[in-house]
Amino acid sequence: MVEGKNILVVGLANKYSIAAAISSSLHENGATLGFSYQNERFEKFINEFSKDNGGDFTQVCDLSSDKDIKNLISTAVEKWGKIDGIVHSVGFAPADQISGNIEDCITREGFQITHDVSSYSFAGLLKEAHPHMSENSSIITLTYVGSQEATPNYNVMGMAKASLEASVRYFASTLGSKGIRVNSISAGPIKTLAAAGISGFSKMLDIYKEKSPLKKNITTDDVANVAYFLISDLSSSVTGQTIYVDNGFNIVGY
Ligand code: NAD
Repeated sequence: MVEGKNILVVGLANKYSIAAAISSSLHENGATLGFSYQNERFEKFINEFSKDNGGDFTQVCDLSSDKDIKNLISTAVEKWGKIDGIVHSVGFAPADQISGNIEDCITREGFQITHDVSSYSFAGLLKEAHPHMSENSSIITLTYVGSQEATPNYNVMGMAKASLEASVRYFASTLGSKGIRVNSISAGPIKTLAAAGISGFSKMLDIYKEKSPLKKNITTDDVANVAYFLISDLSSSVTGQTIYVDNGFNIVGY
């Protein structure tokens, strides 16, 4: 169901990244992939990963730069003509913003950086990419339930994720008439580079295991399965949604 589709993957850092599992699944099911990476630090890994996972190109793209976003989309269009899907799996908050009570740590600069990289990057990417998306294409992003519920230490990242989820609905509502679907996956906690920055993350994993209806933590493969569904034609009537892959954690109260 993704055979022959050209999919741009943004947000791969290392083998533990959620984007790594999503990319492998898409590749195994016949998609062609293009990868961007944040900076030179990730270049070697991305090039190797791309070789092993059906990559057509790799390109540096700091999503806080409009110029980099333009260049990335130009490269994809030069290679493919049309883009059939985008996986946006990007988030960042300065460490001091995701540790402690919000009233003690929030700053104007921290707020701006977090919202710029974790939310505007998605909007900026779609603004540039949408004229080049094929009919019946699909765009996904990754979010977290801290957008809906106050979660210890998640702070301004929760505010940025709420903005990201709203963005999904706005873009879905206007891009739908062009046959472009836009959805997000709200994943439970998984140990990755980004997650390591959140204070008390290991405790969070224990609480999820104990409290979620399915009594386990999730894996990147669990997320990849749903990402495959959303990128594939199987989800041809699904848009503007936040789909929870969290063993049901979000439905449970006290
Ligand atoms: P990760 O660290 O592997 O991925 C985050 C990616 O964001 C990295 O590739 C990093 O290079 C990229 N990035 C950060 N700033 C950037 C910038 N300025 N320009 C370009 N790229 C930039 O961690 P992950 O957990 O795989 O995170 C992927 C997504 O999943 C994020 O949106 C994260 O918030 C979300 N998410 C993660 C969890 C979790 O527990 N790991 C849970 C729910 C949602």
